[in-house]
Amino acid sequence: MGKFKTSSNWQFFIKNSSGGLCKICQRQVNCKGNTTNLSNHLKRHHKSVLEKSEDTKDSELIDDPDASLSVST
Ligand SMILES: [Zn+2]
Repeated sequence: MGKFKTSSNWQFFIKNSSGGLCKICQRQVNCKGNTTNLSNHLKRHHKSVLEKSEDTKDSELIDDPDASLSVST
């Protein structure tokens, strides 16, 4: 087992027993030993944070409105 790349996905999550809690939307994302779910969550809901912000405006901070209405498991 060599060195593994430190996944930057964790900078957006707070680790807990069942996965991670998203710091951005405070939603629990379950994952088992990998960061696939974390990555998918970021891609789905917080795509903007993954792309390095060059000159993004603060108006993009609002999350998608659907997220607050329906909580997917
Ligand atoms: Zn989130």
